[in-house]
Amino acid sequence: MACAPSLIDGHGRAIRYLRISVTDRCDLRCRYCMAEAMTFLPRDAVLSLEEIALIAERFIASGVRKIRLTGGEPLVRRDMIDLAHRLGRQIGTGLDELTLTTNGTRLAQHAEALHDAGIRRVNVSMDSRDPGTFRYITRHGDVSKVLEGIAAAKAAGLAVKINMVALKGLNEDEIAPMLAWCRDEGHDLTLIETMPLGLIDEDRADRFLPLTKVMDVLKGQFDLSFDSHVTGGPARYWRIAGTDTRLGLISPLTQNFCATCNRVRLSTDGKLHMCLGHDDSVDLKRAIRSGGLAEVDARIAEALALKPERHDFSVERGAAPAVGRHMSVTGG
Ligand code: SAM
Ligand code: SF4
Repeated sequence: MACAPSLIDGHGRAIRYLRISVTDRCDLRCRYCMAEAMTFLPRDAVLSLEEIALIAERFIASGVRKIRLTGGEPLVRRDMIDLAHRLGRQIGTGLDELTLTTNGTRLAQHAEALHDAGIRRVNVSMDSRDPGTFRYITRHGDVSKVLEGIAAAKAAGLAVKINMVALKGLNEDEIAPMLAWCRDEGHDLTLIETMPLGLIDEDRADRFLPLTKVMDVLKGQFDLSFDSHVTGGPARYWRIAGTDTRLGLISPLTQNFCATCNRVRLSTDGKLHMCLGHDDSVDLKRAIRSGGLAEVDARIAEALALKPERHDFSVERGAAPAVGRHMSVTGG
């Protein structure tokens, strides 16, 4: 299908990918993501399901081909499955793919419904398979629920990619075993460097683990070859020889990925963010509530000029976050 040319940013990049944070709420409190006493948006500040769907449909009409539903934890929002069904109906008539990022705690209940909605791939965040370490990182989570969710997703026909944030002194010894487990279970694995987004209770520098260092270890234990698979996303890929298992690396601190960025993010409160690492946004909630869809189109066109060339992340000790927003509001 020919791509609509309308969403080209000021640096010549075509925007084809929209991430939607359907809720900023979450049933876990991962230490690198949120403070323990996190405050959430009041309900009237949050886009309704109808508003999210209408805005997403404007993006599809303008050339967006892939949508990822995320959060916060998307599966804690009650009408999330209805939204998945509504957007899933656009697959093949504009949209190429609808995907989901979840912490997996409620995946066992919803895996089949997600497949019925047209979703074929899910990212499940699991920073550790050790019950104690998982509970420590998430502040109270039960990893057995996540493992059940992953098994249910596989049984429902969903391809699973595990997301793992690399954390110095917490899960660094589990990265190689996690890759071996993913290889044996037929999942992909993406490793992520911790990013300076929103205030948390600790200094991120204490847990920052550069993926360059992790790769030195993994290359000694696995036969990894560089995979030229390009998604327009931030990950660089490696493949374990003789298997289908792909290892993705998201290393915004040690390897900047902005030149090929094709994505924008719709936050829970209706702000369109052109970059995870910058504060600029346009207010699509105000646009849809005051001027309707014509106003939404006008604000989207305006936003294209705001997409910066690159982020400037740093996790120096004592440094303030790059932006005050948490990843859960903007959509990770
Ligand atoms: N709750 C869902 C989950 O955890 O998968 C979806 C939202 S979560 C914000 C999306 C991804 O962002 C997760 O893989 C999480 O580990 C990652 N993440 C959250 N805060 C981060 C940070 N400050 N730096 C790097 N990754 C982060
Ligand atoms: Fe919740 Fe996901 Fe953030 Fe963890 S990373 S606190 S699961 S939103």
